[in-house]
Amino acid sequence: MSRYRFEAYLDKAFDFSHLVEALPEGRQAPRHPWHKVFDAVFLAAAMQIPSLLQIEAECRRGALAQRIGPISDDTIGYALQRQSPEPVFALGCDIVRRLKRNGVLRSDWSRGLIVAAVDGIEICSSFARCCDACMQREVQHKVRGELRTDIQYYHRIVAESPRNLPLDRHLFRMRLPSGPAQRYAER
Ligand SMILES: [Zn+2]
Repeated sequence: MSRYRFEAYLDKAFDFSHLVEALPEGRQAPRHPWHKVFDAVFLAAAMQIPSLLQIEAECRRGALAQRIGPISDDTIGYALQRQSPEPVFALGCDIVRRLKRNGVLRSDWSRGLIVAAVDGIEICSSFARCCDACMQREVQHKVRGELRTDIQYYHRIVAESPRNLPLDRHLFRMRLPSGPAQRYAER
């Protein structure tokens, strides 16, 4: 699907542009408005662009040059740091509610249940730096060849996304008890 068609679908099904434009701004008088930075990161994620540096390159003279235009990775990072996560989370919930209302998540094989994929990762682990939200644990590691125990600071992220794809059947089956329900899911 082309980016143009993808965005046209999002606007038609979810009024997506207006939802994004309504997100509150966390910075004072920014040069690049938050919805522009959000669009850059969102579209880049949809295109599986893996890093801010590469988003910067795509915005300068790549796939997002016309749509977004030049914007630096520093600007994107700074903008992301200063937004509160709640409105973005609420936007995601709004999308899921609309998907539910439009019957997109319904399917006969899931027996009226909504299937979600849940995955977690750890990021930003450090022995030196931490913030108020850091988790911590004692870790044995080697420093200049010597084994020592230090406190390691880290963050955990858990993401959940609702699913309705035939490909996800195996996942659904794993979560169901065996027996009639499992056979139903296999059909
Ligand atoms: Zn932290």
